Amino acid sequence: MAEGVSRVTSPNHNEDPRLADLLEVIFKFAAGDLTARGTLSDDESALDGVMAGINILGEELEANVAGNKQAQEASLESENRLRTVLESVQAGIVIIDPEAHRIVDVNSFAVRMIGAPKESIIGAVCHKFICPAEWDQCPVTNLHQTVDNSERVLLTATGERRDIIKTVTAIQLGGRSHLLESFIDVTERKRTEEALRANEESYRQLFESSRDALMTLAPPSWRFTSANQATLELFGAASTAAFTELGPWKVSPERQPDGRSSDEKAQEMIATAMREGKNFFEWEHQRLDGSPFPADVLLTRMDVGGEVFLQATVRDITERKRAEQALSESEALLRTIFDSVQDGILLAEVQSQKFIMVNDSICRMLGYSRDELLELGVEDIHPEKDVGNVVLQMARLAKNEISLAPNLPVKRKDGTVFHADINGTTIQVKGISFLVGVFRDITERQRAEQAEELASRDGLTNLYNHRRFYSFLKDEIIRTQRFNRPVSLLMLDIDHFKRVNDTYGHQAGDAIIKGLSDLQVQQARTVDRVCRYGGEEFMVILPETDATMAMQIAERLRATVERQPFDIGGGMMVRITVSIGVATYPQQANALEEFVKAADLALYAAKEGGRNRVTRYEAAMAGKD
Ligand code: GH3
Ligand code: MG
Ligand code: MG
Repeated sequence: MAEGVSRVTSPNHNEDPRLADLLEVIFKFAAGDLTARGTLSDDESALDGVMAGINILGEELEANVAGNKQAQEASLESENRLRTVLESVQAGIVIIDPEAHRIVDVNSFAVRMIGAPKESIIGAVCHKFICPAEWDQCPVTNLHQTVDNSERVLLTATGERRDIIKTVTAIQLGGRSHLLESFIDVTERKRTEEALRANEESYRQLFESSRDALMTLAPPSWRFTSANQATLELFGAASTAAFTELGPWKVSPERQPDGRSSDEKAQEMIATAMREGKNFFEWEHQRLDGSPFPADVLLTRMDVGGEVFLQATVRDITERKRAEQALSESEALLRTIFDSVQDGILLAEVQSQKFIMVNDSICRMLGYSRDELLELGVEDIHPEKDVGNVVLQMARLAKNEISLAPNLPVKRKDGTVFHADINGTTIQVKGISFLVGVFRDITERQRAEQAEELASRDGLTNLYNHRRFYSFLKDEIIRTQRFNRPVSLLMLDIDHFKRVNDTYGHQAGDAIIKGLSDLQVQQARTVDRVCRYGGEEFMVILPETDATMAMQIAERLRATVERQPFDIGGGMMVRITVSIGVATYPQQANALEEFVKAADLALYAAKEGGRNRVTRYEAAMAGKD
């Protein structure tokens, strides 16, 4: 700082104040003050000559201005413009006295850059701020040597070193050569450049060490400009040169799997990457030995150090493709199975109850196309009045409370309804619950059951018929054998029924048979099977019933019949009696035929014993014996 104000005091540079005065006058002139005058010293220095010249010039100018107002204004204007330009230039400007290396003037941009008051800059040795280390080889001493755009350093008042680019020009001031140095601050740019260089370095390191195959392509021909080790290995190239020499598209087959020319398609991919900064796509590549392989390619536009190029990352996806292929094959297989099963299969999302997968059978069953069905949900395929129950059943299936919802009504597209047993299970896929419903149309089964039922009933009495009796008895004996439980059989025959027919007629006989059948059904427990064995002969199968119990049941039945007159029409009531034979399995028989025979024998014994009575097999045997 002390040096900054030394222009007045420094004994070694006593010309400085004179020059400063001179410049002050010049700048005053420039600012339009034509009355400005410099003082002349006593000694005859060159500067005094200049000053005297300026003073005279000033007077002349003043006189001229007085005479020519227009010229004065024009001159003023241009002077002003010069000053304005100097001040408005986005560059620092200092004017230096080359001999003394001192700053004689400075613009405000330079003041801001240096960060010291203008007064302390003017008069200072220029090396204090500019090119601080270059006093010895300072080019400014050679006034004929102008300097263009050389990189230098500016040392600010706070001691910070800024990178500058300066231009030095010689100018004449007051008849003497001075130097005009203009400079701009390039510190930030240099920093960015360094950072870029550092980035480039780390980019190269990343590039080389990456396990992904990386290569660069440069415009305009998009030839490979570099390739890392992984690339050479992937393509089977012996050296980077061997790879980059190939030219851009020699590492692809002539055509891509979609049939398009690799060249043409690649240009498109590159254009997209250049436009959007990135492009990721699948590409069929070709090794140097000609063998093809599928790859994922990522093209990234890179801007490094002002250079634009593309980096390609190539990843061999042969394995993934193979897995995808295997998956799609097994998917196709599953799909075939899925569609070929007879049962209808629906996959519904539990939350929304919407279908997300349906097989051919369910489409057929419901009369919808696949697309139509995929627009629907659970409540669309059941009659409105049943939806509540269906949803409830579905919820129970979803919770695995039940695995089969039997006999649910299902509505076809045309509105007709059929019944289905629905097997259900839930599956979780990526946290979402799906309900798999397997529909079995039970219409046929129901029809068959109905036919079977019809075929197993007796027309007059609606009791199970002779044939059905045997099948029931067979099932019951199997059950009895498995669980070691007794089963009893009642064989019942109306006493002297011929007489009833003879007395009241055959129709009256039928009415009595019907009345007796109803009575037996009323008396029977739900598990008992009441069957019409023959004309007026009946069989009652009593599961889980031993001989004693069976006797009680038979006796109660006999007594009821005895008490109960039967309506034969025409206001006529007829009383009948029945005889009942009782046999119990396995106590008294060990095969079906024997069992029936035992009951028959017991009945015969009851008839023999006088009718209207119950006889058990043992008693019958005892009586016989
Ligand atoms: P019991 O059994 O006491 O020895 O004398 P019963 O007169 O009943 O003799 P049996 O059981 O041998 O005769 C059966 C008679 O029942 C023969 C037939 O007239 C009559 N019957 C059989 N089936 C029907 C039928 O479906 N309707 C009518 N109305 N009568 C029948
Ligand atoms: Mg009979
Ligand atoms: Mg009889």
